[in-house]
Amino acid sequence: MPSLAYLSHSDCGRHDTGWSHPEHVGRLRAIPRALREDAELFHLLEHRESRHADPAELALAHDPRYVAMIRELAEVGGARLDADTVVSEGSWAAATAGAGAVLDALDLAFGDGPRRSFCAVRPPGHHALRDSGMGFCLLGNVAVGAHYARARHGAERVLIVDWDVHHGNGTQALVQDTPAIHFVSMHQWPWYPGTGAAQDRGPHQSVWNVPMAAGLPRETYVSAFLSAVDSATVGFTPDVVLLSAGFDSLAGDPLGGFTLEMDDVERLTMELVSRAEQWCDGRLVSSLEGGYAPERLGEACVRHMRALVGR
Ligand SMILES: [Zn+2]
Repeated sequence: MPSLAYLSHSDCGRHDTGWSHPEHVGRLRAIPRALREDAELFHLLEHRESRHADPAELALAHDPRYVAMIRELAEVGGARLDADTVVSEGSWAAATAGAGAVLDALDLAFGDGPRRSFCAVRPPGHHALRDSGMGFCLLGNVAVGAHYARARHGAERVLIVDWDVHHGNGTQALVQDTPAIHFVSMHQWPWYPGTGAAQDRGPHQSVWNVPMAAGLPRETYVSAFLSAVDSATVGFTPDVVLLSAGFDSLAGDPLGGFTLEMDDVERLTMELVSRAEQWCDGRLVSSLEGGYAPERLGEACVRHMRALVGR
Protein backbone atom coordinates (compact mmCIF):
# COMPACT_ATOMS: atom_id res chain seq x y z
CA MET A 1 0.00 0.00 0.00
CA PRO A 2 1.44 3.40 -0.95
CA SER A 3 2.53 5.48 2.01
CA LEU A 4 2.23 8.81 0.17
CA ALA A 5 -0.60 10.35 -1.82
CA TYR A 6 0.30 12.76 -4.61
CA LEU A 7 -2.61 15.14 -5.10
CA SER A 8 -3.02 17.60 -7.91
CA HIS A 9 -5.59 18.81 -10.42
CA SER A 10 -5.25 20.01 -14.00
CA ASP A 11 -7.36 23.03 -13.03
CA CYS A 12 -4.38 24.37 -11.05
CA GLY A 13 -2.86 25.11 -14.46
CA ARG A 14 -5.82 27.34 -15.32
CA HIS A 15 -4.75 30.11 -12.93
CA ASP A 16 -3.26 32.30 -15.67
CA THR A 17 -0.85 34.93 -14.37
CA GLY A 18 1.10 35.28 -17.63
CA TRP A 19 4.61 34.01 -18.38
CA SER A 20 6.28 37.18 -17.13
CA HIS A 21 4.87 36.56 -13.65
CA PRO A 22 7.18 34.49 -11.39
CA GLU A 23 4.24 32.35 -10.23
CA HIS A 24 3.47 31.00 -13.71
CA VAL A 25 2.03 27.65 -14.75
CA GLY A 26 5.46 26.33 -15.76
CA ARG A 27 6.25 25.87 -12.07
CA LEU A 28 3.60 23.22 -11.71
CA ARG A 29 4.46 21.50 -14.98
CA ALA A 30 8.03 21.02 -13.75
CA ILE A 31 6.86 18.69 -10.97
CA PRO A 32 5.36 15.78 -12.97
CA ARG A 33 8.24 16.23 -15.44
CA ALA A 34 10.77 15.65 -12.67
CA LEU A 35 8.65 12.89 -11.20
CA ARG A 36 8.49 10.97 -14.48
CA GLU A 37 12.28 10.77 -14.45
CA ASP A 38 12.11 8.91 -11.14
CA ALA A 39 10.12 5.85 -12.18
CA GLU A 40 10.60 4.10 -8.85
CA LEU A 41 9.12 7.00 -6.88
CA PHE A 42 6.38 7.54 -9.49
CA HIS A 43 5.13 3.99 -8.91
CA LEU A 44 5.30 4.28 -5.14
CA LEU A 45 2.81 7.15 -5.06
CA GLU A 46 -0.94 7.02 -4.87
CA HIS A 47 -1.87 9.49 -7.62
CA ARG A 48 -5.11 11.33 -7.03
CA GLU A 49 -6.98 14.16 -8.69
CA SER A 50 -8.17 16.48 -5.94
CA ARG A 51 -11.70 17.69 -5.45
CA HIS A 52 -12.67 21.35 -5.36
CA ALA A 53 -13.22 22.88 -1.92
CA ASP A 54 -16.73 24.28 -1.61
CA PRO A 55 -17.62 27.76 -0.32
CA ALA A 56 -18.80 26.42 3.05
CA GLU A 57 -15.41 24.76 3.58
CA LEU A 58 -13.57 27.93 2.57
CA ALA A 59 -15.71 29.89 5.04
CA LEU A 60 -13.95 27.99 7.82
CA ALA A 61 -11.17 30.54 7.35
CA HIS A 62 -12.38 33.17 4.88
CA ASP A 63 -15.09 35.81 4.75
CA PRO A 64 -17.81 34.28 2.53
CA ARG A 65 -18.16 37.62 0.72
CA TYR A 66 -14.50 37.46 -0.30
CA VAL A 67 -14.89 33.86 -1.50
CA ALA A 68 -17.92 34.89 -3.57
CA MET A 69 -15.97 37.83 -4.98
CA ILE A 70 -13.15 35.58 -6.25
CA ARG A 71 -15.71 33.37 -7.97
CA GLU A 72 -17.48 36.35 -9.53
CA LEU A 73 -14.25 37.96 -10.70
CA ALA A 74 -13.24 34.70 -12.39
CA GLU A 75 -16.66 34.41 -14.03
CA VAL A 76 -16.34 37.86 -15.60
CA GLY A 77 -12.88 37.06 -16.96
CA GLY A 78 -10.64 38.11 -14.09
CA ALA A 79 -9.10 41.13 -12.41
CA ARG A 80 -5.94 42.20 -10.62
CA LEU A 81 -6.23 42.22 -6.80
CA ASP A 82 -2.91 43.99 -6.25
CA ALA A 83 0.35 44.53 -8.12
CA ASP A 84 1.32 40.83 -7.75
CA THR A 85 -1.95 39.00 -7.33
CA VAL A 86 -4.15 38.09 -10.26
CA VAL A 87 -7.55 36.46 -10.68
CA SER A 88 -7.98 34.98 -14.16
CA GLU A 89 -10.92 33.19 -15.72
CA GLY A 90 -9.60 29.85 -14.48
CA SER A 91 -8.56 31.02 -11.02
CA TRP A 92 -11.69 29.96 -9.17
CA ALA A 93 -11.30 26.41 -10.45
CA ALA A 94 -7.57 26.49 -9.69
CA ALA A 95 -7.78 27.95 -6.20
CA THR A 96 -10.62 25.69 -5.08
CA ALA A 97 -8.74 22.65 -6.45
CA GLY A 98 -5.67 23.76 -4.48
CA ALA A 99 -7.59 24.05 -1.24
CA GLY A 100 -9.53 20.88 -2.10
CA ALA A 101 -6.28 18.94 -2.40
CA VAL A 102 -5.39 19.76 1.20
CA LEU A 103 -8.88 18.77 2.36
CA ASP A 104 -8.68 15.49 0.43
CA ALA A 105 -5.27 14.84 1.96
CA LEU A 106 -6.76 15.33 5.42
CA ASP A 107 -9.64 12.98 4.60
CA LEU A 108 -7.02 10.36 3.67
CA ALA A 109 -4.87 11.05 6.74
CA PHE A 110 -7.81 10.63 9.12
CA GLY A 111 -9.40 7.88 7.02
CA ASP A 112 -7.90 4.80 5.43
CA GLY A 113 -4.69 6.53 4.33
CA PRO A 114 -2.19 7.24 3.03
CA ARG A 115 -1.43 9.24 6.15
CA ARG A 116 1.07 11.41 4.29
CA SER A 117 0.31 13.51 1.23
CA PHE A 118 1.97 16.03 -1.03
CA CYS A 119 -0.33 18.53 -2.72
CA ALA A 120 1.19 19.89 -5.95
CA VAL A 121 -1.02 22.94 -6.32
CA ARG A 122 -1.15 26.56 -7.34
CA PRO A 123 -1.91 29.35 -6.67
CA PRO A 124 -0.05 29.16 -3.36
CA GLY A 125 -1.94 30.05 -0.18
CA HIS A 126 0.04 31.26 2.81
CA HIS A 127 -0.28 35.01 2.17
CA ALA A 128 -4.07 34.99 1.63
CA LEU A 129 -5.99 36.89 4.31
CA ARG A 130 -9.53 36.45 5.57
CA ASP A 131 -11.02 38.92 3.12
CA SER A 132 -8.30 39.57 0.57
CA GLY A 133 -5.70 37.90 -1.58
CA MET A 134 -2.09 39.03 -1.67
CA GLY A 135 1.40 37.84 -2.59
CA PHE A 136 0.24 35.54 -5.45
CA CYS A 137 -2.20 33.80 -3.04
CA LEU A 138 -6.00 33.67 -3.22
CA LEU A 139 -7.12 31.09 -0.64
CA GLY A 140 -5.34 29.99 2.52
CA ASN A 141 -5.07 26.32 1.57
CA VAL A 142 -3.25 25.18 4.69
CA ALA A 143 -5.16 27.43 7.12
CA VAL A 144 -8.48 26.21 5.71
CA GLY A 145 -7.12 22.68 6.13
CA ALA A 146 -6.22 23.26 9.79
CA HIS A 147 -9.74 24.43 10.63
CA TYR A 148 -11.22 21.60 8.54
CA ALA A 149 -9.18 18.99 10.41
CA ARG A 150 -10.70 20.27 13.65
CA ALA A 151 -14.25 20.72 12.39
CA ARG A 152 -14.55 17.60 10.23
CA HIS A 153 -12.15 15.12 11.75
CA GLY A 154 -12.18 16.05 15.40
CA ALA A 155 -8.50 16.95 15.52
CA GLU A 156 -7.92 18.80 18.77
CA ARG A 157 -4.44 20.13 18.13
CA VAL A 158 -2.99 21.05 14.75
CA LEU A 159 0.59 22.07 14.00
CA ILE A 160 1.36 24.11 10.88
CA VAL A 161 4.98 24.57 9.86
CA ASP A 162 6.09 26.86 7.02
CA TRP A 163 9.60 26.88 5.55
CA ASP A 164 8.80 29.13 2.59
CA VAL A 165 11.30 32.02 2.43
CA HIS A 166 8.44 34.48 2.99
CA HIS A 167 6.49 34.92 6.21
CA GLY A 168 3.20 33.00 6.18
CA ASN A 169 1.33 36.14 7.24
CA GLY A 170 -1.97 34.90 5.84
CA THR A 171 -1.76 31.59 7.65
CA GLN A 172 -0.89 33.38 10.87
CA ALA A 173 -3.85 35.75 10.47
CA LEU A 174 -6.24 32.87 9.77
CA VAL A 175 -5.18 30.64 12.67
CA GLN A 176 -3.76 32.83 15.44
CA ASP A 177 -7.13 33.28 17.17
CA THR A 178 -7.40 29.50 17.62
CA PRO A 179 -4.89 28.54 20.35
CA ALA A 180 -5.24 24.83 19.49
CA ILE A 181 -3.51 25.54 16.19
CA HIS A 182 0.21 26.21 16.58
CA PHE A 183 2.02 27.93 13.72
CA VAL A 184 5.76 27.99 13.01
CA SER A 185 7.13 30.15 10.20
CA MET A 186 10.79 30.60 9.30
CA HIS A 187 11.38 33.36 6.79
CA GLN A 188 13.87 35.85 5.45
CA TRP A 189 13.99 39.11 7.35
CA PRO A 190 13.65 41.88 6.40
CA TRP A 191 11.78 40.72 3.31
CA TYR A 192 8.31 40.52 1.76
CA PRO A 193 5.69 40.90 3.25
CA GLY A 194 7.41 42.64 6.17
CA THR A 195 5.59 40.83 8.97
CA GLY A 196 6.74 37.93 11.16
CA ALA A 197 8.95 39.47 13.83
CA ALA A 198 10.14 37.04 16.50
CA GLN A 199 8.24 38.91 19.21
CA ASP A 200 4.96 38.58 17.24
CA ARG A 201 3.61 35.47 18.99
CA GLY A 202 -0.08 36.11 18.24
CA PRO A 203 -2.76 36.90 20.84
CA HIS A 204 -2.45 33.42 22.45
CA GLN A 205 1.32 32.91 22.18
CA SER A 206 0.60 30.14 19.67
CA VAL A 207 2.80 31.51 16.88
CA TRP A 208 6.54 30.92 16.52
CA ASN A 209 8.07 33.32 14.00
CA VAL A 210 11.70 32.72 13.06
CA PRO A 211 13.04 35.69 11.08
CA MET A 212 16.45 34.98 9.56
CA ALA A 213 18.99 36.98 7.57
CA ALA A 214 19.74 35.99 3.97
CA GLY A 215 22.95 34.19 3.06
CA LEU A 216 23.62 32.31 6.30
CA PRO A 217 25.17 28.82 6.35
CA ARG A 218 22.58 26.17 5.43
CA GLU A 219 22.81 24.41 8.76
CA THR A 220 21.82 27.62 10.58
CA TYR A 221 18.41 27.59 8.87
CA VAL A 222 17.90 23.87 9.43
CA SER A 223 18.63 24.05 13.14
CA ALA A 224 16.65 27.26 13.70
CA PHE A 225 13.62 25.72 12.00
CA LEU A 226 13.77 22.43 13.88
CA SER A 227 14.31 24.11 17.21
CA ALA A 228 11.23 26.30 16.63
CA VAL A 229 9.22 23.17 15.74
CA ASP A 230 10.35 21.61 18.99
CA SER A 231 9.49 24.74 21.01
CA ALA A 232 6.03 24.83 19.44
CA THR A 233 5.34 21.25 20.51
CA VAL A 234 6.42 21.38 24.16
CA GLY A 235 3.35 20.07 25.99
CA PHE A 236 1.43 20.14 22.70
CA THR A 237 1.11 16.88 20.78
CA PRO A 238 -0.51 17.61 17.43
CA ASP A 239 -3.10 15.30 15.88
CA VAL A 240 -1.90 16.24 12.41
CA VAL A 241 0.96 18.26 10.92
CA LEU A 242 0.40 20.58 7.97
CA LEU A 243 3.45 21.80 6.05
CA SER A 244 3.61 24.89 3.86
CA ALA A 245 6.36 23.62 1.59
CA GLY A 246 7.81 26.66 -0.13
CA PHE A 247 10.91 25.83 -2.12
CA ASP A 248 11.89 29.48 -2.60
CA SER A 249 14.05 28.91 0.49
CA LEU A 250 16.52 27.02 -1.74
CA ALA A 251 19.77 28.68 -2.80
CA GLY A 252 19.44 30.53 -6.09
CA ASP A 253 15.73 31.23 -5.93
CA PRO A 254 14.96 34.52 -7.70
CA LEU A 255 12.65 35.63 -4.87
CA GLY A 256 14.73 34.70 -1.83
CA GLY A 257 18.19 34.74 -0.31
CA PHE A 258 18.28 31.56 1.77
CA THR A 259 20.90 28.93 1.02
CA LEU A 260 19.14 25.58 1.46
CA GLU A 261 20.08 22.70 -0.83
CA MET A 262 18.31 19.49 -1.85
CA ASP A 263 19.93 17.58 1.01
CA ASP A 264 18.33 20.04 3.44
CA VAL A 265 14.90 19.48 1.89
CA GLU A 266 15.42 15.78 2.50
CA ARG A 267 16.70 16.28 6.06
CA LEU A 268 13.89 18.66 7.08
CA THR A 269 11.28 16.37 5.56
CA MET A 270 12.66 13.30 7.34
CA GLU A 271 12.73 15.18 10.65
CA LEU A 272 9.06 16.11 10.24
CA VAL A 273 8.10 12.58 9.17
CA SER A 274 9.77 11.15 12.24
CA ARG A 275 8.11 13.67 14.57
CA ALA A 276 4.70 13.03 12.94
CA GLU A 277 5.20 9.30 13.52
CA GLN A 278 5.78 9.97 17.22
CA TRP A 279 2.97 12.49 17.60
CA CYS A 280 0.09 11.46 15.42
CA ASP A 281 0.41 8.14 13.65
CA GLY A 282 2.39 9.84 10.89
CA ARG A 283 -0.33 12.21 9.71
CA LEU A 284 1.52 14.84 7.65
CA VAL A 285 0.03 16.90 4.82
CA SER A 286 2.45 18.95 2.73
CA SER A 287 1.22 21.62 0.33
CA LEU A 288 3.28 23.53 -2.19
CA GLU A 289 3.75 27.25 -1.60
CA GLY A 290 6.55 29.18 -3.36
CA GLY A 291 9.59 28.15 -5.40
CA TYR A 292 10.32 30.21 -8.50
CA ALA A 293 13.13 28.39 -10.32
CA PRO A 294 11.01 25.70 -12.00
CA GLU A 295 13.77 23.12 -12.61
CA ARG A 296 14.96 23.39 -9.00
CA LEU A 297 11.35 23.26 -7.83
CA GLY A 298 10.74 20.01 -9.71
CA GLU A 299 13.88 18.44 -8.26
CA ALA A 300 13.04 19.66 -4.75
CA CYS A 301 9.53 18.21 -4.91
CA VAL A 302 10.96 14.84 -5.94
CA ARG A 303 13.49 14.89 -3.07
CA HIS A 304 10.73 15.98 -0.69
CA MET A 305 8.40 13.18 -1.83
CA ARG A 306 11.19 10.61 -1.62
CA ALA A 307 11.71 11.59 2.00
CA LEU A 308 7.96 11.56 2.64
CA VAL A 309 7.73 8.04 1.23
CA GLY A 310 10.71 7.03 3.33
CA ARG A 311 12.94 5.93 0.41
ZN1 LIG B 1 7.50 32.42 -0.81
